[in-house]
Amino acid sequence: MKDAYRHLKWFFKIEYKKYLLLAILLLALSITPALPSKVLGMAIDDIASGTLSINRLLFLVLSLALIPIVRYFIAIVYHFHINRLGHKLSYQLREKYIDHLFALDAALYEKYTKGDLIARATNDLQNLTVLATSFLQIVVFNSGMVITAIVMMLVIHPLLTVASVILMPVAIFWLNKKRQKKRAYYKIHHEIYADMQEKVLESIEGVKAIRAYGQEDADFEKTKKAIDEDINSWWKILKFESIYGPLFEMVYAVSYFVAIAYGSYMVIKSQISTGELVTFLVYVGMLYGPLVALSNVLNTSNNIIISDERFYEIMDLQPEVKDEVEAQPILSFKTIEFKNVSFKYPFDNFHVIENISFTINSGETIGIVGPTGAGKSTLIRQLLREFNITGGQILFDGVNINRLKMEDARNLVGYVPQNHVLFRRSVDDNILIGNPKASPAEVASAVSLADFKKDLKELPLGMETMVAELGGSLSGGQRQRLSIARALVKNPEILILDDSLSAVDALTESNIIRNLKQARSGKTNIIIAHRFSAVAEADKIIVLQNGKISAIGTHLELLKYDNWYKMQYLNQIKGDRYEEL
Ligand code: ADP
Repeated sequence: MKDAYRHLKWFFKIEYKKYLLLAILLLALSITPALPSKVLGMAIDDIASGTLSINRLLFLVLSLALIPIVRYFIAIVYHFHINRLGHKLSYQLREKYIDHLFALDAALYEKYTKGDLIARATNDLQNLTVLATSFLQIVVFNSGMVITAIVMMLVIHPLLTVASVILMPVAIFWLNKKRQKKRAYYKIHHEIYADMQEKVLESIEGVKAIRAYGQEDADFEKTKKAIDEDINSWWKILKFESIYGPLFEMVYAVSYFVAIAYGSYMVIKSQISTGELVTFLVYVGMLYGPLVALSNVLNTSNNIIISDERFYEIMDLQPEVKDEVEAQPILSFKTIEFKNVSFKYPFDNFHVIENISFTINSGETIGIVGPTGAGKSTLIRQLLREFNITGGQILFDGVNINRLKMEDARNLVGYVPQNHVLFRRSVDDNILIGNPKASPAEVASAVSLADFKKDLKELPLGMETMVAELGGSLSGGQRQRLSIARALVKNPEILILDDSLSAVDALTESNIIRNLKQARSGKTNIIIAHRFSAVAEADKIIVLQNGKISAIGTHLELLKYDNWYKMQYLNQIKGDRYEEL
């Protein structure tokens, strides 16, 4: 719990004045419920002794009416402010969390699932907010109520007070001991919940593929299993609470019985008045709710501790790829040299690319070809600095990429990935992600370079057409052209097309490549392609096989001797001729 407080200290520091005010209001709210019973006791005693005058009655009745009205207004102010604080905190925590997720590198997404990351930002974050809002309220309000009631009871009769309440702390202590085991289970429960969230997310995201393969029933079974596991896990917790929760009620009933029996005896013996006994019994009645709430505080704090651990497990992660203290800016370059570059993914134990050496001169068009899984994407994505390379160096004009400002290095690149990431926004907004400051003329030019202009006519609202989630409403080719337009609007120093022309026909492909060559003269293009016509005119073609460069040269140079490129090229033109026939 100390850690959770430490983590939220910054918020308490900023909002301490509001918390002080709220604490005073809470105290007022917890003390005032004791007042009506006091008034009631006074009225009963006045009636019993026959001293109740009209003025006195008026005073007592007015007091009784005024107390709830005052309480009502205090409660309004209190709830308004505490809820605002809660929202403010969860908003700020969520903002920090999202910022942090952006700052972390790709390794995070290899380790944690989306469902888990969402559960931490929702369920766990909500529990943390409880610490800054209702947790304080439960502790202050209920402690205030308990202390007030016990002090008032002690004033009436100390011995009667001790006899009536002695069983309660014993019961709470015992109950908490029992609950300790269950608390350890909460951590497992949070993991089960995150798994369920992931499964549901996967089913929603994959709904089209599931339908296409007629896997609805099988997927439903899997999702249902995950949901059932979550429910069963809750069930375990609830079963425990159902058995042990009402135990306190029994103990309370015994205490109440002792108060009535022993209190009545005292009235008979004239040690206390009838009015005092009635007041006393009301106080005992007041104890039940707060004591149950306080006995649950350990449960709540246990939940908060686990959620705090889970939330800050992510927040405490440090990105492996980060700027050095004196990172150098970079806006352009003359050469990029890959020098014996090797790389393995964080959770793999083999190198995906090994000992890769080649040079890219600014303004060149580089083609990269090779069998699927050869490591082409992995090789070129190193320019995006998603991970640190595990061997060798990538040098920009002789400066190691690790020493360059990460943001600058990434800004040099416009990357069109294989899996196009499109957002649920208009076509226009999807393109502007590449460069939010682009003018309409720049957007129009990117659209025509990407050969996307012809698609706009087919879209119901042209540039204003909403793109469905993950680009679901567009054809594969349209998605590719839109992604290319997005990269082009950035006018990057290096444009990477990572197998981005696979879903377009040969004519569109040659249109795009011709456009690029003209419009991007002086800038660098890197094209990964399966169809060799896309790279035939490149200044340099790199052939990658099994993570190693097996050949390098221009199209004509590569055709001069037997190699994978020549063999595949001949196969492809044979296929093309066959298609033409
Ligand atoms: P290509 O682009 O040539 O098809 P990739 O670079 O995509 O090849 O993949 C090369 C190898 O790296 C494959 O064996 C693939 O399974 C593996 N790989 C790709 N991405 C990841 C990743 N994020 N984590 C672990 N392994 C990966």
